[in-house]
Amino acid sequence: MLLSLNRRAGLVGGVEIGKQHLHVVLAGLSHAVISESRRPVQPDLPADEGAALVGATVSDLLEEVGADRSELLGVGLGLPGPIREPNGEVGDSSILPGWVGVGVAELVSAELQVPVMVDNDANLGALAEWMWGAGRGCQDMVFLKVATGIGAGLIVSGSPYRGTGGTAGEIGHTQVNAHGQLCRCGNRGCLETVAGSHALVQAFSETRERTPSLEQVIEWALSGDVGSRRVIGDAGRAIGSAMAMFCNVLNPARIVVGGELAAAGTYLIQPLREVLERNAIASAAADVEVVVGELGDRAVALGAVGLVLRSTTIELPEASRSEARLG
Ligand SMILES: [Zn+2]
Repeated sequence: MLLSLNRRAGLVGGVEIGKQHLHVVLAGLSHAVISESRRPVQPDLPADEGAALVGATVSDLLEEVGADRSELLGVGLGLPGPIREPNGEVGDSSILPGWVGVGVAELVSAELQVPVMVDNDANLGALAEWMWGAGRGCQDMVFLKVATGIGAGLIVSGSPYRGTGGTAGEIGHTQVNAHGQLCRCGNRGCLETVAGSHALVQAFSETRERTPSLEQVIEWALSGDVGSRRVIGDAGRAIGSAMAMFCNVLNPARIVVGGELAAAGTYLIQPLREVLERNAIASAAADVEVVVGELGDRAVALGAVGLVLRSTTIELPEASRSEARLG
C-alpha cells in the first residue's frame, strides 16, 4: 500500500560514486527506500563511463520496481571531492582523478534525462545523518567521513555549509607533519597521509604476509589484535587533534563519525575524543559529543536523496518536504 502511494507521487534517486564502488538507492517521496544496488567499479573509472554506469544502474532499479522513467523526479549524487557551485564541477583534490573539472550534474543529467544535483560525499553524509540519523536535532554538527580520504561535512546554524568553493570541511588536507609524506593534493604531511585508509593498511606491509584491506584491519582490532588497535588508535589521535581545532572554530554540539573506519567503533572514537579534549578549548570540548553515525555505509547515497528532497529547484509535491521518516 505504502509502496503504491509512493510510486504515484514520484521517485528520487540517490547515488554515491566512490573510488571503487557505486551505490544507488531509489526512494519514494515519503522518504522510504524502495530499492537499492551496490556494485564494485574498477578504480579510477573515467567520468563518461561512470555516468553511463549510473544511468544503467538507475534504469535497472526502475525496472526492478516496475516504474516508468517518467516517475523519476530527480537524482542526487555524491562524489569524494570538492564540488564547485553552480555547475557541480569536481575540484582538484578529488580521489577520482578522471572526474576533476567535469560538470558532473550536466553529464549525468544527459544520461538520465532528469535534473541531477551533485555534492561532496561528506556533505551528503552530514545531510543524511542530520535529517534521519545521529545528527537529528543538532543546529551545529560535523559529520566526519573517514575512509580512503578524510573529509568533514558541516551543518552550521541549522543549514548545510559548503563554503565559497565547496571545500569547507576538507580536513584531510590539514598538515599534521611538515616533513611527512607527499599527499595526492600536492602538499606534504596531510592528515590523510597518516590517518587515511591507505596509510592504515600500509602500516602492516612489513609485518604481515600481504597488505590487508581496511575491513581486515578493523576485524583484527575488534578481535583483540594489539597492532591493529594501535594503528587505528593512532589514526584516531591524529584526527582528534585536527578536530580540536575544528571545535575551537565551529563549536559544534556533535561530531558524527562515519565512513569505513567508523566500524572500528570505540578503538577509533576513544583516542579521538581524548586528544580532542586535551587540545580544544575546555568549554568547546565539553559542548561536543562524539558518536558513531547511525546510517553506516548508506549515509552518502541517502544524503543524495535528501539533497533532492530539500531542493527548491526540483519540483516536488509539498508533502515530501515536511516528512522526516526513513525506512
Ligand atoms: Zn593533502
